[in-house]
Amino acid sequence: MSNLTRDFFIGLSNNEYLNKTAKKWGFRLGADKFVAGTNIESVTNIVKELNSHGITCTLDRLGEFVSEREEATEAKEGCINLLEKIKSENLNCHVSIKLTQLGLDIDENFCVNNMQEILQVANAYNIFINIDMEDYARYEQTFDVLHILRKEYDNIGTVIQSYLHRTESDLDQLQDVRLRLVKGAYKESEKVAYQDKKKIDRNFIQLAKTRLLGRTFTSIATHDHHLIEELIDFIRANNIDQEMFEFQMLYGFRNDMQYSLAEEGYNFCTYIPFGIDWFGYFMRRMAERPQNINLVMKDTLYT
Ligand code: FAD
Repeated sequence: MSNLTRDFFIGLSNNEYLNKTAKKWGFRLGADKFVAGTNIESVTNIVKELNSHGITCTLDRLGEFVSEREEATEAKEGCINLLEKIKSENLNCHVSIKLTQLGLDIDENFCVNNMQEILQVANAYNIFINIDMEDYARYEQTFDVLHILRKEYDNIGTVIQSYLHRTESDLDQLQDVRLRLVKGAYKESEKVAYQDKKKIDRNFIQLAKTRLLGRTFTSIATHDHHLIEELIDFIRANNIDQEMFEFQMLYGFRNDMQYSLAEEGYNFCTYIPFGIDWFGYFMRRMAERPQNINLVMKDTLYT
């Protein structure tokens, strides 16, 4: 995909007006290919089906870049309701959360308090909470919040991105934190992030190997079969304990591969986004691969 097209979709994903307006539209533009439903009821059966194939899930109640306290409070309540549902339906899944949905851009303490309320419930139900990593402007604050929360709770982890130059040197302080490794989904400057796909991929492999040889659980989150195959060779050659890692992919992507990795006996987790705040998430998926645009265009035009 050309950088121009990628930048165009990333630009749309950050557009406040479109994000707000799209909430009123319901699903459009083929968003239902990648977003599982508008509410928790609509995703429960999807989770149960995946669980029956030995696949765990992480649920993302979509929302980000919130600028009003009421909206962040509503998001916190939505996350707590989600935890109640996971418990009452006995779903095998955890929850992924973006801090800007809980008020990070409004006031860090407010965001920490919201997270504490969520973690209290999650802790009581033994449910893990993962903080998604957003753009670099929020990087340090995300780790600040994580470290504050980890003083009280250990059922929490976050994400590292292989496109950032500094990730490798930051890994040392994260040895005891459960992490998801991804390439990175935002537009970042060359000052902080590799722009070259090969460098991002090489760093992904290097970071994954460091983590796999370490002492804490890692989620290897990619749809890239080249990277997965290379890491499986490494895992076999080094007798890495299967309980120390899992593969993760997004809902709607490479379903065959999701099932086959689980059938081969690897721990597998599907990331399932749901909710009305679908626009930013959907546009970032459009930015990733031209084939994603083709896929939704085809369905939008012919259905
Ligand atoms: P790409 O670089 O998109 O693709 C590499 C190659 O893989 C392609 O050339 C193709 O050969 C193959 N491939 C990829 N997709 C397909 C497909 N659908 N069908 C066939 N072949 C395919 N980013 C963040 O910044 N923060 C987060 O918190 C975050 N969480 C994530 C959670 C999960 C579970 C996943 C999977 C991704 C997450 N991301 C996150 C997004 C991530 O950073 C990447 O933008 C996204 O995963 C695209 O990179 P990729 O590794 O999947 O492969």
